[in-house]
Amino acid sequence: DKGSPCGLGSGCSVRELLPVSVRVRLAPSPTGNLHIGTARTAVFNWLYARRHGGQFILRIEDTDRERSSPRYTRNILAGLAWLGLDWDEGPIYQSNRIARYQAVVQQLLDQGLAYRCYVSEAELEAMRAAQKAAGKAPRYDNRHRFLTEEQRRAYEAEGRQPVIRFKIEEPLEVSWVDLIRGPITWNTQDLGGDMVIARADGYPLYNLAVVVDDIDMGITHVIRGEDHIGNTPKQILLYRALGHEPPQFAHSPLILNPEGKKLSKRDGATSVAEFQQMGFLPEALKNYLALLSWSPPDGEEIFSLEKAATMFDFDRVNRAAARFDWDKLNWINSQYIKQLSPAELVERLTPFWQAAGFDLGSVPDPTWLEDVARLVAEGIDRLTEAPPLSRFLFQEPLSYSLPALEQLRLPGVAEAMAAMAATLAAAELPQPVSADSLKLLVEEVAKSQGMKKGLLLKSLRAALTGDLQGPDLMASFALLQRRGWALGRLEAVQ
Ligand code: GLU
Repeated sequence: DKGSPCGLGSGCSVRELLPVSVRVRLAPSPTGNLHIGTARTAVFNWLYARRHGGQFILRIEDTDRERSSPRYTRNILAGLAWLGLDWDEGPIYQSNRIARYQAVVQQLLDQGLAYRCYVSEAELEAMRAAQKAAGKAPRYDNRHRFLTEEQRRAYEAEGRQPVIRFKIEEPLEVSWVDLIRGPITWNTQDLGGDMVIARADGYPLYNLAVVVDDIDMGITHVIRGEDHIGNTPKQILLYRALGHEPPQFAHSPLILNPEGKKLSKRDGATSVAEFQQMGFLPEALKNYLALLSWSPPDGEEIFSLEKAATMFDFDRVNRAAARFDWDKLNWINSQYIKQLSPAELVERLTPFWQAAGFDLGSVPDPTWLEDVARLVAEGIDRLTEAPPLSRFLFQEPLSYSLPALEQLRLPGVAEAMAAMAATLAAAELPQPVSADSLKLLVEEVAKSQGMKKGLLLKSLRAALTGDLQGPDLMASFALLQRRGWALGRLEAVQ
């Protein structure tokens, strides 16, 4: 087709021939802490940007002055940084761009695509009540779309402050091919009438600001939660009114609790900060969030986001809502904990040990701390489980559980502990003391006392750790010996 500029057919445009670099954005509103759903949206945006060598932009949508707070902005930035979801541009604050939105609102007014609406709150309520009584869905009936200049002046004289509404022509079909959900069509009759784009105080509303920003920032793909599907037709109409092609849209499924309801505080945690406090590692949480609605082609469940970014695509994103599965998250977290080096483990555990009041400055040496970390890491899913498991290694005097006290009162146990203490005091142990060298001493005592090894070990655990359950006993014994606490504990229970 020689008639088209590119010679490839009439449908082509220069735009299609240029390699358009992917630009995506996360646009959280700072009206709450970084929500786990927003974090998952961030993961998808990050993966898509990295997959295509594109840019990931962070925009803080803080135009709702009553509900936004810098405290939440700080929490959102800290949560994303903790997760390592680094962004390439931003944060861009919508509150710095009000004049730009107002200019666009003015442009729409000048073009006759928007108008001033003076309907009062009471009138709106009466309208909705009448619609309800007639069994109709609530909507604005566009009553101020065609005000005469005279009517307008009369309202202004009354002191009414108008909102600005964008005209939505009806009936009209608005369609897009969602990268996750496939073709979607809305009828403009279902959009609730002409839409408010600026409040009476001149402040822009979400649908307007988001479109202006996505245009100005050259966003190519809007990846966000399914709860925004109903906004998309309105936004597409605004793109058209502003003379721009809409970006591609990908609406990801919501995250539900195991019962299929919206994830709420009652499910244990909803904000990223809470997951951090619960002892999840950021790399594990990211891995889990990616896996919540996506699976890599190789079927692996443990992967870094860098690796996932080499494979990520929307065709492997599930359309069905994701159910939050604590067991799976715990399991993934335990896998990451096991992969950490002893030094990394200490680093991750330190805040949790400190929060438990342990004095890390008084430990025998750095290797001792690493060995403690390794010992407890074997059996935990979350970092918060480490302090209770390692308390006996950090705090004197020991507190004993009831079963431990009962164990220590069994016949022959006090004598066995005395023999153990004497044997330990007399022993020439290789330095640093190992679990194996202590094992030999235990066997010696079992023999000399004529006590079953099982009974001796159980009693030894009660004496050394104050409990009947805990990490590997002989390794714990060695760590206590290196701290110089083992003998005292054996003597304390005689
Ligand atoms: N500020 C919106 C939100 O937090 C962003 C929606 C969007 O990504 O367009 O839900």
